[in-house]
Amino acid sequence: MSDRLNEYGFDTLQIHAGARPDPATGARQTPIYQSTAYVFRDAEHAAALFNLQEVGFIYSRLTNPTVAVLQERIATLEGGVGAVCCSSGHAAQIMALFPLMAPGRNVVVSTRLYGGSVTQFSQTIKRFGWEAKFVDIDDADAIRGAIDENTRAVFCESIANPGGHIADLAAVAKLADAAGVPLIVDNTSATPYLCRPFEHGATLVVHSLTKYLTGNGTVTGGVVVDSGKFDWSASDKFPSLSQPEPAYHGLKFHETFGPLAFTFHGIAIGLRDLGMTLNPQAAHYTLMGIETLSLRMHRHCENAQAVAEWLEKDDRIESVTYAGLKSSPYNARVKTVCPKGAGGLFTVALKAGYDGCVKLVDSLELFSHVANLGDTRSLVIHSASTTHRQLTPEQQEAAGASPNVVRISIGIEDVDDIIADLDQALTKASA
Ligand SMILES: *Cc1c(COP(=O)(O)O)cnc(C)c1O
Repeated sequence: MSDRLNEYGFDTLQIHAGARPDPATGARQTPIYQSTAYVFRDAEHAAALFNLQEVGFIYSRLTNPTVAVLQERIATLEGGVGAVCCSSGHAAQIMALFPLMAPGRNVVVSTRLYGGSVTQFSQTIKRFGWEAKFVDIDDADAIRGAIDENTRAVFCESIANPGGHIADLAAVAKLADAAGVPLIVDNTSATPYLCRPFEHGATLVVHSLTKYLTGNGTVTGGVVVDSGKFDWSASDKFPSLSQPEPAYHGLKFHETFGPLAFTFHGIAIGLRDLGMTLNPQAAHYTLMGIETLSLRMHRHCENAQAVAEWLEKDDRIESVTYAGLKSSPYNARVKTVCPKGAGGLFTVALKAGYDGCVKLVDSLELFSHVANLGDTRSLVIHSASTTHRQLTPEQQEAAGASPNVVRISIGIEDVDDIIADLDQALTKASA
């Protein structure tokens, strides 16, 4: 299998990449290795593992065979060289920044982000002495202006949650590259089926596995994927990777592991010392989900397109942000950034305002009112009173979460049933 990875298509790889029949039992499905530790062959083997001279399993905070299959599968689907799974999407964001940042360093981030990410970046990372500089990711001059000698990364979402904004990844990657820093892309809403950020020049990809990759609302997880293409030694900006790392008895990660430096650092130091580990049960559910990723994403996109078109024509609606609509300012970017579709997520502005949105979420029957997205089920949330509540009115507006806006995550149910439910709830919301 591994010799032929380049020959197989996406639908084959989503089922097979990283997995092989269990060598001990022949089990065809990847077993859940519910084990904390792994027996060393002898003292020499143990020493080689701890010295990172041999790859293997030591302790499940660092590596686990079920999680390892998931890491290889996602790295393959993204076209990367390695991946590190984490306990949540937010953990993955910290794990992506951790090897790059230090007190006094900053990351230039898009204003159009998942609400939780805005809070993580604008508030919580300050405690580490890190700073986030928010910019309009469509404004090249603003990005150039924000990058300074302390910048260590640029961060954006491919298809932004929830506003239907699509980033011009190639343009942003060029700006990051010119400044000698990596572009990190949160590819949660798009998944590697719709968008492969490395093909546009990104260095790292992060995901919340919680959403489409697992796909049915059972798991909290995250992953950082490395393209393996960034030269960490080209400048003195990334001493954790290019210089002797004091947290690993002076090991030089880039010199020792080449393109796998970031991945090894993520496991040997990130997971070892931050401990934001994905558990094997969660990895198993996510592997199950990924087996049908392309089928689900295809249907999510098809349904979302039909629902968005129906909503846009409705008198009770002020606007719909779906990038698949001709009216979207980002419609042209669908072809270049996510050619298989604009995803299953968008926002709808109601003429009935804040109160109408509250009435709508209370009146929907098929839709679930939850703080999640990317489920097989259709989901709705009023961002301004929930996920984006901590944000200022300006931040809400920038994130596409104004008071009269609901976010909907279109499921893979029969599209006629989804539309009928929205129709009856809109009637109540507009009464
Ligand atoms: C949900 C989400 C996150 C955070 O992921 P968790 O698994 O909830 O920690 C980050 N980015 C985006 C785009 C998300 O939708």
